[in-house]
Order: sequence, then structure tokens, then C-alpha cells
Amino acid sequence: MSERLQIAIIGGGIGGLTAALALRARGLSVTVFEQASELREMGAGVSILPNATCLLQRIGLTGGIEKIGSPITGLVMRTSVGEVIYTSTTPSTGIQSYNVHRAEFLKLLADTQPEGTLHLGHRLSEARETNDRVRLTFSNGAIVNSDVVIGADGIHSAVQREIGLKTYPSSEGVMAYRGLIPTEKLSWAKDIGGRVSRWNGKGRSFICYPVSSGRLMNMVAFVPTNLDSEESWTAPGDLKALSAEYAGWDDPVLETIGALDATFRWGIYDRVPLPHWSAGRMTLLGDAAHPMVPHLGQGAAQAIEDGFTLAVFLEGAKQQDVPRRLKAYEQIRIERTSLIQKLARDAGKFYRAEYETAAERDHLMAQWTQWRASTEWIRGHDAEKAAKGAFVLAKDAGSI
Ligand SMILES: Cc1cc2nc3c(=O)[nH]c(=O)nc-3n(C[C@H](O)[C@H](O)[C@H](O)COP(=O)(O)OP(=O)(O)OC[C@H]3O[C@@H](n4cnc5c(N)ncnc54)[C@H](O)[C@@H]3O)c2cc1C
Repeated sequence: MSERLQIAIIGGGIGGLTAALALRARGLSVTVFEQASELREMGAGVSILPNATCLLQRIGLTGGIEKIGSPITGLVMRTSVGEVIYTSTTPSTGIQSYNVHRAEFLKLLADTQPEGTLHLGHRLSEARETNDRVRLTFSNGAIVNSDVVIGADGIHSAVQREIGLKTYPSSEGVMAYRGLIPTEKLSWAKDIGGRVSRWNGKGRSFICYPVSSGRLMNMVAFVPTNLDSEESWTAPGDLKALSAEYAGWDDPVLETIGALDATFRWGIYDRVPLPHWSAGRMTLLGDAAHPMVPHLGQGAAQAIEDGFTLAVFLEGAKQQDVPRRLKAYEQIRIERTSLIQKLARDAGKFYRAEYETAAERDHLMAQWTQWRASTEWIRGHDAEKAAKGAFVLAKDAGSI
């Protein structure tokens, strides 16, 4: 038997593919199994915030992200009728963050995987631990044995189920419409640069930010709903219904909706944190471990942090070390991600808050500004550095 651990990652999304790169950067042998037969992504944006960019630059992705991304240069918040209520101009951590098109980012990550290490068309159906290995069965009939299994397979994770865990989605009472528009079609976006624009009011919010090096504007519109909207990122939305939600809003909002050819609906669901993520030689990362509502833009960043932490904990591990190393990984991550799950929910409440008077609005903004400053530790975190420190402590304590 080879001494080099064989690691299988289930799921080739942002979490799985970055974890593979981070693990390989520490000399580990990794194969990714993705259910989709081709890597397709819906047109949508995703934010790569400083706590993620600081890690991605260590695996050589800075140049690629600079090419496809739109550097975030600030935030302008307005009321529903366009009164400016907040502006910030520089990234607060001093590390550049980017908004990217999901499909372009995923392609960058997939193209960076060494040949033969990403297997498409492999949907995991069963994972059984036997004799110090895990036997993986895929619905295409393939069987693979592995020393370590990482479930990066998203909100409906099969690995989570195989570990014996289950999460129950509960609706936030919010639905998001999403879409992309060529920036040149939007008169208001001419001098926008990399700024994020947000309009809040009447229990709704509307966000726009450029992606694809500024060529496309990503739009996300959060509206209240009492429907059990589908927990999907790809369900088609109704442009007329979207338009009706924002009747009378600021001109750029109306212009953006008017320029859309299509929109997607996304029911926003939440889940309470899992009690644990690991069992024996299997563990979870990203949305499979800690799905969160999108209001802090930390979904991708937390998945990326998980991958870098796992890489620190698995480097140099022998077969027999694996279960304890995975538990140690879980222990250092679970408190942080559970708290961020909660704070993401809190952020949504701010953006949907209703106010009647200017004084109420100003009070709310003062609260928000304070709250936002109090969450700086999320974006200023270096997960790899934290993992290295925790690894040394765990070694000294003899727990790994
Ligand atoms: C289309 C889409 C749009 C999103 N938009 C936003 C957003 O606007 N804002 C935000 O904060 N977050 C968003 N998210 C969530 C955010 O991208 C994630 O939080 C983050 O990227 C971490 O994702 P992940 O890799 O853990 O899971 P995912 O991105 O869900 O990737 C999981 C991967 O596992 C694969 N998979 C699932 N089951 C199996 C199986 N049994 N066998 C093999 N493979 C399997 C899936 O096909 C998928 O490729 C979005 C996610 C998606 C998929």
C-alpha cells in the first residue's frame, strides 16, 4: 500500500476545486468527482472577499482572478428613491477583493486542476468505510477506494447523508431575483467602476455589482415572499412580477430591471449549524458543512477557508492519523462558520428593515455602520495562518 494518502473530493464547485488546489500545494494526492457531465454554471456573480483572496493568491490564482474579476472599489447605499445613505471607497482590510462571474471563476479553477484529476459525470451514491479506507460508489457504476473523503457537494450533500447527518431548511421568507445585463446597456453604470450599488427600503433590497472585468452587471433583488419558493439557483423568474415589486423605485433600479432579458428565482433558505462534520475518514466543507444565507457574501469565502484549513491538517498525515486530523479540522472551523451563519441572517434583517421617517432611517444606518464594523474580523481573517497555529497547539497537546 502506498504511503501517500489518496484523497477524494466529492463535488467540483468553488469549495471542492479550491480545496483540491490547496491540498496539492501541500504535496497531497487529490482527485475530484463531480456529478455534472460538463462544468456548466448559471450566469450569476459571486464575491471573493479579502479573507478568500489572501488565500487564493498563495496558490497562484491572483493573475487569473485579476483577468476575469471586477475589483471591488467601494459601496454606495441608497434609499428606494435614490437618496445616498452610506458610501465607502476603499476595501477595509487593505486586501483587494473581487466580484466575479461564477462560470468564469469555476472555469479558472477547473483549468488549473492537473490533467486526469477532475472526473465529471461521477455522482456519489454511497460511501462506506471499510478496513481503513472508504469505498465510494458512483451512479455511473464506478467504484473508488480512498483514504480520505471530503464532501464538498453542496446543500443537498450525499456525503453529509452518508455520515449520518441531516439538515432541515427553513425559509427566510425572502426570494431573490437574479440576472446579468451588459453594462453598456445601463446609462447609470457608466462611471460606476468597481463599486457595489445597493438600494434598501420597504422590506426589499436591490444590489448591482459589475463582473466579467466590468462587462456585465450582476443584479440581485431580494423581496419578501410567503410562498414556498424553490430552493434553486436556476428556476426561471417572472420579469413582470419583478418589475411590480420595485414600482416607483429609483431610476437606475427601474432601468436595470427594464434591461433584463431573463431572471432567475432563488428561494433563500437557512439551516441551523450541524453538530459535527466528520466521521472516521469522511468530512465536509463549504455549503455541505455550513450553508448560509447570502447577505454577508461569505458562502464562497468560507468554503475556501475550509479547504486551506484541511490542507494544513492533512499535510504529512499517515493513514492512522486521518480521523483525528479531520476532527481537529472540524473543531477549528465549526465555531467560526456557525457564528458567520448567524451573522449572515442578522445582516439580512438590516437590509430588509422598514422605516417611516428620516430619523428612523438615520438611526438604522448608524446601527448598521456599527454592526458592519463589528464584523471586520470575518474579512480580516487568515484561515491558513490560524490553522497552522492550531495545528502546532494540537500537536503539542498530543491530540493529533
Ligand atoms: C448557481 C449558484 C449560485 C450561487 N449564488 C450565490 C450568491 O449569489 N451568493 C452567495 O453568497 N452564494 C451563492 N451560492 C452559494 C456559494 O456559491 C457557495 O456558498 C460557495 O461557492 C460554496 O459552494 P460549495 O462548493 O460548497 O458548493 P456548491 O457550489 O453547491 O458546489 C457543490 C458541487 O457538488 C456537486 N455535487 C452535488 N452532489 C453531488 C454528488 N452526489 N456527487 C458528486 N457531485 C455532487 C454539485 O454539482 C456542485 O458542483 C451559489 C451557489 C450556486 C451553485
